[in-house]
Amino acid sequence: METLETPKAGVVVLVPFPLQGHLTPMLQLGTILHSRGFSIVIAHTQHFNPPNPTNHPEFTFFPISDGLSGRDTSSTGNFLEIISAINTNCIQPLVKCIMMNKLQGQIGCIIYDSLMYFVDDVAHQLKLPSIFFRATTALYMQSYYAVLALEEKKMLPLPAESQLQEPVPELHSILRYQDLPISVSSKISKTLIEFIKNFSNIRSSVAVIWNSVEMLDHSALQQLQHQYQVPCFPLGPIHKLSPSPSQTSLLPEDTTCITWLDKHAPKSVLYVSLGSLATMGDKELVETAWGIANSGQRFLWVVRPSSVNGSDWIECLPDGFAELTRERGLIVKWAPQKRVLAHWAVGGFLSHCGWNSTLESICEGVPMICRPCFGDQMMNARFLVHVWKMGIELGKVVERESVEKAIRMVMVDELGNEMRHTAVEMKGKLELSVRKDGSSYRSLDELVEFIISLIHTQKMN
Ligand code: UDP
Repeated sequence: METLETPKAGVVVLVPFPLQGHLTPMLQLGTILHSRGFSIVIAHTQHFNPPNPTNHPEFTFFPISDGLSGRDTSSTGNFLEIISAINTNCIQPLVKCIMMNKLQGQIGCIIYDSLMYFVDDVAHQLKLPSIFFRATTALYMQSYYAVLALEEKKMLPLPAESQLQEPVPELHSILRYQDLPISVSSKISKTLIEFIKNFSNIRSSVAVIWNSVEMLDHSALQQLQHQYQVPCFPLGPIHKLSPSPSQTSLLPEDTTCITWLDKHAPKSVLYVSLGSLATMGDKELVETAWGIANSGQRFLWVVRPSSVNGSDWIECLPDGFAELTRERGLIVKWAPQKRVLAHWAVGGFLSHCGWNSTLESICEGVPMICRPCFGDQMMNARFLVHVWKMGIELGKVVERESVEKAIRMVMVDELGNEMRHTAVEMKGKLELSVRKDGSSYRSLDELVEFIISLIHTQKMN
């Protein structure tokens, strides 16, 4: 545990949730606030995906005992249990950490990931202001409120499967029941309802920060700002507001793929990645592999270790695939994704449409083939395809013919060019939002002022 340096504008404690897609934007937020003069303390889970302090010598890291040593935290199957355990086990360690280190007098506020909802109670106990952080869109949050409202009105589960195709009342008209993050065709358990209530409640938080952006999420942001009655700061895409790129990967990045990309023609390589959590069955791996091979296109494919059910890595790849694609394909375990998407050789992205990946792809003007798996991914995919028109969707059942066709559409056909054109226009608009006077840049200025005002108020008390 390192000691705190003398604070400049004041200390901000960040409490990230220990999954890659949550950790990255929170650490980037830390980098941004540090560049604005704040000292940053990262209070992180000790055993479950702790960040690497050596990547951020400018921060102070405090490990919080999460009681998860020896527990299997690798699968999404037991997430509710793990989240609940973290929110119980970390209360006292966080209190102790803040008290023991006599931080209390210096701390301006605690910014916590919405999945770390216990933090609000701790902040309340220690009479510190807390700020709620969402790594996703406001629209995604809105969809959970919609589920709660439907449940309250006893409209769930839906009486007929056919209703899954219908639009969900009070959400964007493009969103159908089947795009919701929770399956509404069967009974939702009490535990799940409790969980949704827990993480969607901003409690006594004095503000909300989103890794979202007015241009993409305007209506939901407006509506939730109205609902919450506290200041809301959409700062997305946070990685583009950050003054310097920071290393936030939990897995080692294989940078040889950048040298490999250097050898290829502009827009000639398809990048394939399903993010940090999604898994696939061995049959899907085989179908995807043949789809990629038969498309004849160059590809860079991320297959995380253990992400193919029942395999350590890529043992299930079909015979003949390696020989057929040796000259035009590369498979790695983890890539420096933002650098990959920004590389001129990359012309398309076959993605699970996690929110970070979606933002990163828009930021680089790369059209997408959407293969959503869970959570907000179905909604993101729906928007990419039908609203932003820079993606096409793969069917639910992944077959080699559909994969091949989708790849050709994006990498070779005129449709791909049109989508690339649209994506580049969107990239331009996002760039404006993080420039001086852009919506996210203004939000950041306001957030900085807001935190300073919290510090002043505390000094007065
Ligand atoms: N990522 C990466 N290298 C990879 C795959 C993913 O750096 O090989 C990063 C990606 O840039 C993104 C994050 O991991 O920032 C994944 O977050 P996302 O919200 O897209 O999906 P999740 O992993 O949460 O499902």
